[in-house]
Amino acid sequence: MTNLCRCACCDGALEPAQQLRFLVETDNLDNPSYLDRIRALPSVNGRPVPVCKACQTRIETHPVVLKSRPKAAPLSLTTGLLGALGALSVGWLLGNLFTSRG
Ligand SMILES: [Zn+2]
Repeated sequence: MTNLCRCACCDGALEPAQQLRFLVETDNLDNPSYLDRIRALPSVNGRPVPVCKACQTRIETHPVVLKSRPKAAPLSLTTGLLGALGALSVGWLLGNLFTSRG
């Protein structure tokens, strides 16, 4: 019950209407045919997600927003970059070694 008044996306206050929707949809999880007719909120794994009106509009416009976290993607890019930098510095070290000898 702790998250009831908070939006799951932006952590902002939930409008009373959105709270009511969340309560009613949660209440009818065992009644899928009825839930289908009243469902207004986005859902994850079949459970309604409490979101404010602004976030719901955004989710409906860009349905992927709940799945993709902005910080998840650049990991492989960073690793690749570090690898490239490592190779560059090794090459630079070897280059220095050979030039100082020659
Ligand atoms: Zn929100």
